[in-house]
Amino acid sequence: MKKYNKLFLLIPIVLLIIFAFVSNIYTTSNQDKNTIQYNSFLEMVNKGTVSDVYLSDNELIKIKLNDNKVLYTSNPRSLTFKENLLMKGVSVHEGGAVNPAELIPLSILFVFIISMAVYYASKGSKSRAGAFKLSSIDAAPEKDTGITFENIAGNEEVKDSIKELVDFIKNPEKYLKYNVRMPRGVILYGPPGTGKTLMAKALANEAGVPFFAVNGSDFVQIYVGVGAGRIRDLFKKAREKGKAVIFIDEIDAIGKKRSGRGDGGSDERDQTLNALLAEMSGFKENQGIVVMAATNRLDVLDDALLRPGRFDRHIEVGLPDIKARQQILNVHGRKKPLSSDVDLQKIAQITVYFSGAKLENLMNEAALLAARDDCEYITMEHLDKAYGIVVAGAEKKDRSYVGQLDRSITAYHEAGHALISRLVSPENIVRKITIIPSTKGAGGYTLNIPPDRMYNTRKQLLNRIKVGLGGRAAEEIIFGKENITTGAYGDIQNVTETIISMIKYYGMFENSGLLNYDLLINEGISNPTDIIKLANDTVTSLYDEVKVLLLSSANKLDKLASALLEHETIDDEELDRIIAV
Ligand code: ADP
Ligand code: ZN
Repeated sequence: MKKYNKLFLLIPIVLLIIFAFVSNIYTTSNQDKNTIQYNSFLEMVNKGTVSDVYLSDNELIKIKLNDNKVLYTSNPRSLTFKENLLMKGVSVHEGGAVNPAELIPLSILFVFIISMAVYYASKGSKSRAGAFKLSSIDAAPEKDTGITFENIAGNEEVKDSIKELVDFIKNPEKYLKYNVRMPRGVILYGPPGTGKTLMAKALANEAGVPFFAVNGSDFVQIYVGVGAGRIRDLFKKAREKGKAVIFIDEIDAIGKKRSGRGDGGSDERDQTLNALLAEMSGFKENQGIVVMAATNRLDVLDDALLRPGRFDRHIEVGLPDIKARQQILNVHGRKKPLSSDVDLQKIAQITVYFSGAKLENLMNEAALLAARDDCEYITMEHLDKAYGIVVAGAEKKDRSYVGQLDRSITAYHEAGHALISRLVSPENIVRKITIIPSTKGAGGYTLNIPPDRMYNTRKQLLNRIKVGLGGRAAEEIIFGKENITTGAYGDIQNVTETIISMIKYYGMFENSGLLNYDLLINEGISNPTDIIKLANDTVTSLYDEVKVLLLSSANKLDKLASALLEHETIDDEELDRIIAV
């Protein structure tokens, strides 16, 4: 991108040189024309020998004498010039008498610009070399993306959300009747290759509306205002179509958190972001335009972008679990000649942490190997080889190769949370336990939902802390004190917040009393080490209780962990079934 920009700085310079050179030739040749002094010209006008004067913006103006002789004289560029001539009975013509020769440098410039524009446009829509399309972006809509929900495996919850949007685009009147405010903007977030683009395409296709796809980085240009112009242009095009889906991939290129102080260089990005926000609050509520954006991380986005009325719906698109992986492999194997010995479930088992894109890649490599061998079918052997190729080609830091031990630790950690939750606060719903990493947790996560209530009791808060400690406690029990991991980072933060609030604000401990410690600290009369000691003592004794609980249900913990290792994701029903026995 940087390289392109430098190149583009060169082009105007080259053009300028050519232009100056060519027009110089013509200006010099002007001097060979039949020019007369302005004074003599005025004399001739007075004498009545001038019949026509051709006004122009040029340095010289053309005059025609009564005997049809053509002469040139200096252009006085005076406001009363025309009036004076008319009073003397001279015909005055404006504009019409451009010397065709003078058009040559201009035409060269014109042709050059057009051909450059055509050249860069033909390099495809992905080309970032948009310097000649200053305010327009190559956003011709795709009428039919051909992608349906059939093409997307797994991600059932995401698909459900998107299906709702399909209905919204199709029948906005229905929602208008109920006065529902439907989302204008939806952000899909999650690791690359998990099908975010696929979802947006399916949305447009299932709703039967044009699909406009752009990339956030297309809007970040060196020239201030260009990105903003492109945003307006994009929305204008979409509005002209009536209903539409606009998809902005890599939205973080425009929508990254703004650094508090204006750091000059981000002027262009700010303008672009403001234009986007203005456009989004500009279109009518139930018009049937949905803006969908994708990013790998939600937390880097500017808050302004996430406010109600903008991108107010956030949908996580995570890595597939074992069941979803098998379905994705199925989708991509559907049109391929698979031999009967191919067991996609087995492949799903060994492709932990693979994204949809990577699974597609795996199937493709296998098909390639089969074609190379001139085999009639793709066999298990091809798939094994392909697996090796895909795995070897991946970077080290890729999560696909998280070792077996790491997986096992994560499984016990999450099992610990879930089991403690079941034991100490059975009224909570454990919606989902998974060892597939997500933005919500480093290793895996347990979605623990307490019932809605106005207040929390002391007991409930202490139980919340116990659930939070369950992960680390399980790690320690199973793998030993030396092998506890950093995976408890988020848990420890939550536990600390809860215990500190209990002491500082809720007056829930006799030792600390019914006092607001922020006020005391402001007055300079509290010793913060007291709070730390009380918090630490409390958490330590809760941690011991949690360990005792886990040890007394060690067989359940084991069962839960092995179920997680096998299925990767477990829902509430499965959880209860496993720990019931
Ligand atoms: P993202 O936008 O999240 O980076 P894409 O939607 O571009 O990912 O996915 C890239 C490719 O990976 C798709 O074209 C498809 O072949 C494959 N893919 C990803 N997720 C899925 C899925 N859930 N089901 C089927 N194919 C998938
Ligand atoms: Zn945890």
